[in-house]
Amino acid sequence: MEEKEVVSKNFIEQIIEKDLEEGVYDHITTRFPPEPNGYLHIGHAKSILLNYGLAKKYNGKFNMRFDDTNPTKEKVEFVEAIKNDIAWLGADWEDRLFFASDYFEDMYEAAVKLIKKGKAYVCDLSADEIREYRGTLTEPGRISPYRNRSVEENLKLFEDMKNGIYADGEKVLRAKIDMASPNINMRDPVIYRVAHMTHHNTGDKWCVYPMYDFAHPIEDAIEGVTHSICTLEFEDHRPLYDWVVRELEYPMPPKQIEFAKLYLTNVVTGKRYIKKLVEDGIVDGWDDPRLVSISALRRRGFTPESIRNFVELCGVSKANSSVDYAMLEYCIREDLKLKKSRVMAVLDPVKLVIDNYPQDMVEYLDADNNQENPELGSRKLPFGRELYIEREDFMEEPPKKYFRLFPGNEVRLMNAYFVKCTHCVKDENGKVIEVHCTYDPATKSGLGFTERKVKGTIHWVSAKEAIKAEVRLYENIIDEEKGKLNEDGTLNLNPNSLTVLKECFIEPSLAGAEAYDSFQFVRNGYFCVDSKDSQKEHLVFNRIVSLKSSFKIEK
Ligand code: ATP
Ligand code: MG
Repeated sequence: MEEKEVVSKNFIEQIIEKDLEEGVYDHITTRFPPEPNGYLHIGHAKSILLNYGLAKKYNGKFNMRFDDTNPTKEKVEFVEAIKNDIAWLGADWEDRLFFASDYFEDMYEAAVKLIKKGKAYVCDLSADEIREYRGTLTEPGRISPYRNRSVEENLKLFEDMKNGIYADGEKVLRAKIDMASPNINMRDPVIYRVAHMTHHNTGDKWCVYPMYDFAHPIEDAIEGVTHSICTLEFEDHRPLYDWVVRELEYPMPPKQIEFAKLYLTNVVTGKRYIKKLVEDGIVDGWDDPRLVSISALRRRGFTPESIRNFVELCGVSKANSSVDYAMLEYCIREDLKLKKSRVMAVLDPVKLVIDNYPQDMVEYLDADNNQENPELGSRKLPFGRELYIEREDFMEEPPKKYFRLFPGNEVRLMNAYFVKCTHCVKDENGKVIEVHCTYDPATKSGLGFTERKVKGTIHWVSAKEAIKAEVRLYENIIDEEKGKLNEDGTLNLNPNSLTVLKECFIEPSLAGAEAYDSFQFVRNGYFCVDSKDSQKEHLVFNRIVSLKSSFKIEK
């Protein structure tokens, strides 16, 4: 039987392929159009990678466009941050970088064209009156008393608006469509407003600014965008989008396609909430590793590959839903598993003294960097009489099935020897400060010792050579099980979202670790050098993710 290759295509790909087949377009152009009014987050990453991926797949073009038509909220500082994030994700816009504000002249001309066609009019109703006249879902709107102004009068008034004769809100330009339309967006929407404001790009040149629903289709059409992909909340605006490109008679009108936003559980994405967390000092800026802005994910230690893979797994859909944060964790684990060295770091140290090991002797033991990937090579580990081990790897009175150190029990020290616990030493409060043991030289790792077996293997670092480091552990910033919001509308924050450990000991091979370097700390997870706070003399590591997860992907 002949095998057929089954390739499932998402609904956007199906639309594009049909358009290309039928010759609606002879190539495709997509775009990512952020407003430079904040930092990008994981949801934006989905949009970026979707648009960029489609352009690549169909040999088309990908435009990077700042949608900077609203002077009130936008700032130049965000432009650079956004460019940086998109480049990091691997979406290459080449020389196709655009600013919507460069089209203000075209947009103004487009508005004049509509007026001349009798399709737009200047209206003197106030914002409140316009709202009141607009009607509701069950009631049609009422016609503005200014709707039947002549073309000449409209041209004159619109020019006066542009020339700064009117105050903010005194007059607007509205599209003349249909006050009885069941779609409220079509009830003579405002397309231009007066706003005496300084724009970050055009300065004080303009005091009229286009509204989003008018500006966006024009931006797309000017750039030759074919498929203008946006999120579901714009579905009801599509008739207006189509109206604008039709009435302006663009030869190859773009089409709008909507998909569902990406939502993640247990995190915060809303700008308003994040801003408050930053201002209240609850998080350390927009790139705090507990957030899911792209800069925060980068700082935490996520890789572009892991995010690309995550977005791929999420797929493209028409129905809103939330994706489990654990899926993002799964993707980063999978990405780092074979790429990163597995090293030893003790996060909650207690001293282990090997009483029968020579006093000042140091041995260098061989350790594979990654047992599953020999290409990463090996390293030498200093070993001596005094080590640090995890406090939880010793118990004076162990419960059943505890196979680590307790008096009389023998364990394997990873990459080293078997050691047998003899006793411990406590301080005056009863806290264990030293664990004592003896070692058996015949059990050295790599020598093929088989006479006895032990059930537990623990990690360690040499007390003398280890480097002290700070380690930050994270939990979800919100625990959704208990509800995302409190009754008063504030975020229901997890008080344990950050744990700072200042007295950790890491093996000396990590001495030169630099910002964004990442490693597996055996048994403890994947860690990344913090790009903000880590210094040569004071290394700081962020836990990217622990090693285990309940999350499984069917392969
Ligand atoms: P937010 O309010 O969450 O910051 P936004 O829609 O105001 O988002 P824009 O800068 O206007 O941010 O968005 C740029 C592009 O990113 C738009 O095409 C938008 O549809 C898309 N986008 C925004 N949020 C998401 C999301 N959660 N999932 C997928 N795409 C998104
Ligand atoms: Mg927006």
